[in-house]
Amino acid sequence: MPGRLFSLKCAEEKRIKTDRRSLNTAYKVICMDYFKLVDKAYREHELTKDEIMRLLDPKSDEEEAYLFQKADELRHECVGDWVHLRGLIEFSSYCRRNCKYCGLRRANVSLARYRLSPEDIVAIAHEAALLGYKTIVLQSGEDEFYTADIMAYIIKAIKKIADVAVTLCIGERSYEEYKIMREAGADRYLLKFETANPDHYQKMHPDMSYKNRIDCLLMLKDLGYEVGSGDIVGLPGQTLEHLAEDIMLLKELNVEMAGIGPFIPHPNTPFRRAAGGTLEMTLGMVAITRLMLPYANIPATTAVGTIHPQGRQKALMAGANVVMPNVMPAEYRPRYEIYPSKICIGEQPAHCRMCIEGIIRSLGREVGRDYGSYRGR
Ligand code: SF4
Repeated sequence: MPGRLFSLKCAEEKRIKTDRRSLNTAYKVICMDYFKLVDKAYREHELTKDEIMRLLDPKSDEEEAYLFQKADELRHECVGDWVHLRGLIEFSSYCRRNCKYCGLRRANVSLARYRLSPEDIVAIAHEAALLGYKTIVLQSGEDEFYTADIMAYIIKAIKKIADVAVTLCIGERSYEEYKIMREAGADRYLLKFETANPDHYQKMHPDMSYKNRIDCLLMLKDLGYEVGSGDIVGLPGQTLEHLAEDIMLLKELNVEMAGIGPFIPHPNTPFRRAAGGTLEMTLGMVAITRLMLPYANIPATTAVGTIHPQGRQKALMAGANVVMPNVMPAEYRPRYEIYPSKICIGEQPAHCRMCIEGIIRSLGREVGRDYGSYRGR
């Protein structure tokens, strides 16, 4: 009997070893499949929706690390090691819209809103230029108080006193309004589509039109703006397929900038109890977007720095090449609350500038000294 027990034990050990070997083989096949897909995206910058979904779903740390590594390599090859800073001026927290995920939505009556005068906006832009910023981003809720003529006045005044590119991020306007602002000297326009799936878009923006959003992006392209768009990762009701569609739309629009940040629930919105977007998924989206749009300017967003203390650094090592520090005086910052617990809320612009330069240098990179325009032409 002992002999029989011994041979049973040997047979069992052999079976376990065989199982392990076949599991290892299966695991290696899955990894190789993933690595090959990353290599294809790195070489060709084209993927199907199913392929993007596969890349968004790594099965191991090795797969994820390889995706980030190749995105970082491509970033280095196509847009270099410079990190371009965009000085962000949040000049009005008024908004006529009611996007379900946003703290600035008009239904949020507990927010203490503010508007800056054109003179104050120009003065802040001037200060930012003195701190070395080569791009100023003028951002607000959709606030019709600032007509195209007022914006044109601000853009011209900034361009007169500061050697900077001007980016606008003020929402949906008519073709004529976009034209007035472009002719006044605006160089770029940011208008995120937030989600490329029309049904999902309608659920997030009940009183808005997906078609109009896309039409606006096409008008901006037609007028010669450098156009930025993007999405929010982790919005309620979002699927992996939606995220893949977001990347495909960025590719189809051939955007010059791609902004991808995680959803962070705001307590005064209908999504107050929803789960937020994850760091892993946000970084995956940044990395795949880099592989698909090798020359795009891709920010390491403040939101990704809010959900993880190293979020911006990780994004900069997964394909991002831009940071958008806030250049607003500290007293206004808590009142532009798209989402809560934003980082750097109590900092003054000069401190932010030094801090961000330190972060960039710690990664072996340098702050860009030029406008950081799109390099893909
Ligand atoms: S996302 Fe933009 S348009 Fe929508 S409520 Fe917020 S600030 Fe307004």
